[in-house]
Amino acid sequence: MAKSPLRPLGLIGGMSWQSTQIYYSQINTAVNARLGGNHSAPLFLYSYDFAEIEALQEAGQWDEAGKNLADIARRLEDAGAEAMVICTNTMHKLSGYVEDATAIPLLHIVDATRNAILASEAQNCLLLATRYTMVQDFYKGPLADKIAADNRKLYIPSEAGCEIVHQIIYEELCRGIIRPESRKAYLDIIDQSVNEFGADGVILGCTEIGMLIGTQDTQLTVFDTTSLHCKAAADFICADVT
Ligand code: GLU
Repeated sequence: MAKSPLRPLGLIGGMSWQSTQIYYSQINTAVNARLGGNHSAPLFLYSYDFAEIEALQEAGQWDEAGKNLADIARRLEDAGAEAMVICTNTMHKLSGYVEDATAIPLLHIVDATRNAILASEAQNCLLLATRYTMVQDFYKGPLADKIAADNRKLYIPSEAGCEIVHQIIYEELCRGIIRPESRKAYLDIIDQSVNEFGADGVILGCTEIGMLIGTQDTQLTVFDTTSLHCKAAADFICADVT
């Protein structure tokens, strides 16, 4: 087969498959929008059984999960991927395992999110994500540091708010369940953050949240990490042709 000018990308997905299908669709759509005709994205996808990942997360067995991700990253590299994407914010906790396992670059979701925030007017951003991503430092820390240089601040909801956001992700969004009551619960948390610290931006820091809320629901600037990550993926794939 003649070598395509498009760069093949590896997707570590299935976390959950509800958002991986959005990655698949948005990356292909973006590549086709640039190149037209019947062009689409050269992708290698590994899709996990998310129940296994969720169980490892809950048990705190992050090292085992990291080794699994590293194993898949090696297989995607062997298959011909020239860069890698982890299709979830939370599992970027283990990005080091993936980076150490292969010689190809990881397109990090925090970089895509940081660039969008810095290109916007938003000063005070609310992060909505899984409890792991909101409370632990692996994601919040680097993102806050990167935007702090430009005097931008990052906030998370109250403890009760974090719990609501987390439960809705695992019990509804990862199962494809979209409830108006849950949309309202998220919007109430956003309103609280406007009153409490003048939030003017909201980061959808979990790859399923865009299924529930979007720019149509709020006046705040919305940073949908799934879309931002997919755009970075399409940029990589098309880098040699556009
Ligand atoms: N997709 C989600 C995220 O972006 C949550 C599922 C997971 O734990 O990976 O964080």
